[in-house]
Amino acid sequence: MTPVILIIEDEPAIADTIQYALETDGFETQILSLGRPVLERLAENRCDLIILDIGLPDINGMELCKLIRAQYTLPIIFLTARADEVDRVVGLEIGADDYVVKPFSPRELSARVRAVLRRTMGPAGHPAGASGFIIDTARHRITYCGRILDLSKYEFNLLETFIRRPGQVFSRDHLMALAWEDPCCSMDRTVDAHIKNIRAKLKAVSPDTDPIITHRGVGYSLKEDL
Ligand code: CA
Repeated sequence: MTPVILIIEDEPAIADTIQYALETDGFETQILSLGRPVLERLAENRCDLIILDIGLPDINGMELCKLIRAQYTLPIIFLTARADEVDRVVGLEIGADDYVVKPFSPRELSARVRAVLRRTMGPAGHPAGASGFIIDTARHRITYCGRILDLSKYEFNLLETFIRRPGQVFSRDHLMALAWEDPCCSMDRTVDAHIKNIRAKLKAVSPDTDPIITHRGVGYSLKEDL
């Protein structure tokens, strides 16, 4: 699959130059001249990396980055006109994957894009976690098809259990023992209710796939390859 790069830059001459360089190198590109529409765009279209100008007319690029990061984990490369912004951009607060300072060479930017994608995508060019799930243990969150899932504690525990052993069928008792601190106080049906919620949240991200399989009278498993 050709990586799709979203260029968010309000100066047409710069955006066009970047687009030309990236497409010459075999990437697919889209351009946005304003920052705010980006969340809507990401909800509707696949995007593998964002090139984000800090000086946008409608929102500061760093603020926009925080909004994107609240929902998505995709890599972001910043364009900045000021070298003194660089510390904030690469610092923990904003957490850019890379940056270039204007004026820059489009070929250099394209090389950076390739390097960041190599770091963040698997060897076959698929995002890390072939099943579409990525567990971020440090932040206690799970990403599905690039979207951070909003999960309750038990939903997180259940889904993590499945992801760690795809294909394995878990009984309700087994799931409760693994995911609940005090399993004896919960009812069997609670597992079903949580699975139902998880399914709804996965469906909201990817409507056409249901990665959780119900084994009637037995329990649940996660599909091995999605
Ligand atoms: Ca600008």
